Amino acid sequence: TEHQRTALITGANKGIGKEIARQLAQHGFAVFIGARDMAKGRETSEELCQLGYESTFIHLDVTDPVSIKNASGVFSQKADHLDVLINNAGILEDHGETILKLNTEMLDRTLKSNVTGPILVIQDFLPYLQKSPMGGRIINVSSGAGALSKMDTYAPAYSISKTALNAVTKQFAGALKQDRIAVNCVDPGWVRTDMGGANASRPVEKGAETIVWLATDAPQSETGKFWHDKQEVDW
Ligand code: NDP
Repeated sequence: TEHQRTALITGANKGIGKEIARQLAQHGFAVFIGARDMAKGRETSEELCQLGYESTFIHLDVTDPVSIKNASGVFSQKADHLDVLINNAGILEDHGETILKLNTEMLDRTLKSNVTGPILVIQDFLPYLQKSPMGGRIINVSSGAGALSKMDTYAPAYSISKTALNAVTKQFAGALKQDRIAVNCVDPGWVRTDMGGANASRPVEKGAETIVWLATDAPQSETGKFWHDKQEVDW
């Protein structure tokens, strides 16, 4: 029998995450829809099932270590390996803030969702990624705002969190090299979602494209890199 590829996407109930799930399902993956909101997560998973895809909802709040542990437990009852993990869930709470008066409670919340969350999710799902017959793949959804080479002062907490997520990517890529697990991060561009807003230049299909490529067609040997439109970009 053919090997069933599996993928877990965090924050998959809307926006770029939902589109990543749809595209990976289209590629033949059994997708696991991670979402903190039960109703929205279930609804997204059912939508994909109705399109004829294999999809399962998993409750997962990336700011809650217990929820992440429970999610990996639930996952282990439904699958024995994980081929692809997409750390997509994220928040943007800066609204015209400046670093000079940064609300550090907001900074803490942002780091918890965008940095600590992905670290914990990788740690808890690692045993299943290690069982991937093709060598697991981890993709962290970062942002151009996190690129030190072109960073501006807009949204400092968010930018700092995405720079840190890029560092997390490098750290795991190094630590997982001998396991043949590829770890990369992606700047999806400015995408029309609740976060990106209606004026953003890109539809979700384009925002998900490079992430899905790294999950599927990119060489397994590519690891520890920052990507935009299928090209390596500066940190
Ligand atoms: P959305 O706000 O549309 O979606 C964000 C998703 O993350 C939602 O599903 C949300 O769930 C989920 N989420 C937030 N916090 C948590 C949590 N604690 N636990 C689980 N899920 C959570 O944003 P996008 O789709 O635009 O963003 C997806 C990723 O892409 C983010 O990491 C973002 O930083 C990044 N990105 C987006 C850009 C853009 O222009 N849109 C540009 C660059 C990067 P809920 O519905 O419950 O809130």
